[in-house]
Amino acid sequence: MRGLYIHIPFCRQKCLYCAFYRVIPANLSRIEEFLRVLDVELSGARPLRFDTIYVGGGTPNILKGRLLEMFMDIIHRHVKLSDDYEWTVEMNPELVDIDSLEIMRTYGVNRVSLGVQSIYDVELRRFGRLHRKDTVIRKLELIRKLGFANVSIDLIFGSPWKSVDMWRRELEEVASWEVEHISTYHLTIEEGTPFHSMGVRNPDDETMEKMYMIRDEVLSRYGFERYEISNYAMRGFESRHNMIYWMHEEYRGFGPSAHSFVKPNIRYTNVADLDLYIEDFEGTREYEYLTEEQLLLERIFLGIRTRRGVRVGDIDISGLEEFVDVRDGVVRLTARGVLLADRIALEIFERVRGSRGPRS
Ligand code: SF4
Repeated sequence: MRGLYIHIPFCRQKCLYCAFYRVIPANLSRIEEFLRVLDVELSGARPLRFDTIYVGGGTPNILKGRLLEMFMDIIHRHVKLSDDYEWTVEMNPELVDIDSLEIMRTYGVNRVSLGVQSIYDVELRRFGRLHRKDTVIRKLELIRKLGFANVSIDLIFGSPWKSVDMWRRELEEVASWEVEHISTYHLTIEEGTPFHSMGVRNPDDETMEKMYMIRDEVLSRYGFERYEISNYAMRGFESRHNMIYWMHEEYRGFGPSAHSFVKPNIRYTNVADLDLYIEDFEGTREYEYLTEEQLLLERIFLGIRTRRGVRVGDIDISGLEEFVDVRDGVVRLTARGVLLADRIALEIFERVRGSRGPRS
């Protein structure tokens, strides 16, 4: 499996919690200038064949009309897809419109990831989002009408404006929309974001733990399965693109700030600066050659997040029984382990390393 990621770095506004690389474009010619460089960069994707495309950002559906056609045409000219491909485009609800959806369908987009984040208008305002709940309902209808049969909704929990009860009601309501996939992200207050300087805080540990636990309880009643720490899907609708990351498969990223992983051990990252990217995307790339130990650490950190788990062989898990199961050499997190995933991953890594003995 091989995935292609494209970063569209433009947004109409900056959400107050966001730490992604994005800019507000001064005008349409700035977007066009970016697309021309992306065209050159993507020509380097040939002759590879990809199983998935994920267009993220930023706000990919800021592209409209001629610019959207230009973008889609660039992908068509440079990217070869397997027959059974998955092609996702992230969308902000307020920018969803019939013409753009039609263009995307025509070019072969078959999955929509909608950045809903909250069904509470008060919270959406606090987040600095431009849409409201009624916008989401209308746009979801439109997306279905245009024939998209694979829709994912992003939600955020862990803000000071959403109680445990509100979170439960939100999950119930979104599950009743009959979408195929729901991503539930724990709000992280990252340095450099307005939320960080405003002193916004997550609720206490006990409340957060309840919020984590409620997800399984509510969403499983509607037929969703948790297949990764933050992600739930109806059977057969797991995000194939994200599974590529978690399973440590190969992916190539294009656009500013995009990452790539090329087997066996090369990672490279595009510069997170639109001007520098446009000026010289190749010369500003950073390359890293991962050691055996770094690869092992990544494989455990990523793989343990998934229901499939990660193959580590026979290791001693004494003291960790509450947090992990090991069967046939594959380690998986228990419901309690999910709450401490990173710490557990590090512990498993140390034990695997210990079991391999000193390096000569
Ligand atoms: S729309 Fe998405 S990428 Fe843009 S600022 Fe908001 S969260 Fe960040």
